[in-house]
Amino acid sequence: MTAAPLSIPFADGAMGRPIRQVADIIRQSAEAFGDDVALREESGDTTYRRLDERSSQFANALIAAGVQPGDRVALVSGNSHYFLEIVYGAAKMGAIAAPANTLLAPAEIVRVLSSCDPTVLFVGADEGEAAPATGAVPSIRINLDPESYEEFIKDQPTTDPGHQSEPTDTGVILFSSGTTGLPKGIKLNGINFSGNLSAPEDHLEFEGTPISMAPVPFFHITGLTSALSANSKGGVLLLKMPNGPGDLIRLLTEEKVTHAVGVPTILQMITQHPDAQTADWSNLKFFGYGGAPMPVAVIKAATELIGCGLFQGYGMTETTAAVTVLWPEDHLPSPGREKQIGSVGRALNDTEIRIVDMVTREPLPVGERGEIQVRGSRVTAGYWNRDDETTRALSEDGWLSTGDGGSLDEEGYLYLADRIKDMIVSGGENVYPAEVENALSDHPQIAEVAVIGVPSEKWGESPYAIVVKRAGTDPSEEDIISWSREQIAHFKCPVGVTFVDALPRNPNGKILKRVLREQFS
Ligand code: AMP
Repeated sequence: MTAAPLSIPFADGAMGRPIRQVADIIRQSAEAFGDDVALREESGDTTYRRLDERSSQFANALIAAGVQPGDRVALVSGNSHYFLEIVYGAAKMGAIAAPANTLLAPAEIVRVLSSCDPTVLFVGADEGEAAPATGAVPSIRINLDPESYEEFIKDQPTTDPGHQSEPTDTGVILFSSGTTGLPKGIKLNGINFSGNLSAPEDHLEFEGTPISMAPVPFFHITGLTSALSANSKGGVLLLKMPNGPGDLIRLLTEEKVTHAVGVPTILQMITQHPDAQTADWSNLKFFGYGGAPMPVAVIKAATELIGCGLFQGYGMTETTAAVTVLWPEDHLPSPGREKQIGSVGRALNDTEIRIVDMVTREPLPVGERGEIQVRGSRVTAGYWNRDDETTRALSEDGWLSTGDGGSLDEEGYLYLADRIKDMIVSGGENVYPAEVENALSDHPQIAEVAVIGVPSEKWGESPYAIVVKRAGTDPSEEDIISWSREQIAHFKCPVGVTFVDALPRNPNGKILKRVLREQFS
């Protein structure tokens, strides 16, 4: 059977329609696309039928090991077929997959995983360093190598144990990236994932078998939802991990990838790589990016270079990835509609967005800046075992406070200001680092920049820039400061610049402002 064209809208997912649980994705795709390739790895291809059977074997192995519905199945692993077998298999017997960020320090992994008290832990072959510490968490620990894992599922029947979850049962716990505080376990259920899968597809006209690539980790919401979405459509999900931007360009083009997703840095690295100019981008139809601010200059360069449909998503783990989308047509603005390119687009189906006053919490009119709140089927039911945090983030009538500042225009386009706690207050003026970063990114000798607040006797706080120079250039601190004074208000200009080789980022591409503040404040 051939894969469904992406233009077919999903009949399920949105509120009031049937809910598709995590396990249903593989169950339904195995039925519809059985012998088609679901996963493509260096080690070979896996068909939908095989993925279905192996996840059932895994589910049965969990049952045999005494794991109960509702138990947490912890996972410390990079992207692989094991990862998806575990997510689908746990769901098929009612357990909850809880993947941790593999790049955390061992002590952090213990803290993250302990917060959800797992019964069993699976550790990827490349995550050996986390092993000594994570071994202390649950009583059962299995390594994801051909020997231990195959031994675990060996002799188990390939029949689906057939657990049917309630729509509100937690299916997966993801941990928030921890750029701003302690990691929290975010509960995601069938309603949330169905919401994510129900995004209107009419913008993605595409015939044939989609070949998708998401070179972002599955323990992050962008990676996980990209994988589930690719599997739900019957396409090929490419799991080969690139080794640097040149290799990514090679994989995207040689493997004829049609749909890619990545964090803004990935798109930025592609546009700045010399191989990008000569690569054949004709197969790539859609490139989704989001999760962190993206300078408009890079968006324009990417549109010109790749020429495919770019779409930007804004969302959080708490909102099961994107809740607003800047669609491809907004990337090619017509006269009079240029400003939308600086927005993160408009609310998706099933989603309400509003801006509230940071102090009174009252909704604000169009154009005014405040905190962004989101409501709809994609919004989490709360944090695992953290009722205090849940009450703080979610109002009784379902509004999630995002912690992001922004405003809406009269057409519903959402403009991000910044994370509220990143805001710099300089001499009583609010300075949004993203705005300064956006301005500085236009400097021809700046490859990347992060702006933080540093203490100032006179102003309380002042903006300070940490800059990665473009290869082959050598700007001075004075050059950058005086250039910025021509671009933006003086109170927004950096009072100092430090040059670094690379900015500290978490695996999801977000700049670790906390680390920069510790270093430079
Ligand atoms: P996480 O839950 O770790 O994915 O982080 C969510 C946060 O990433 C949001 O609250 C925003 O601060 C940021 N973010 C997500 N999408 C975008 C975007 N398109 N542009 C800028 N920042 C974004």
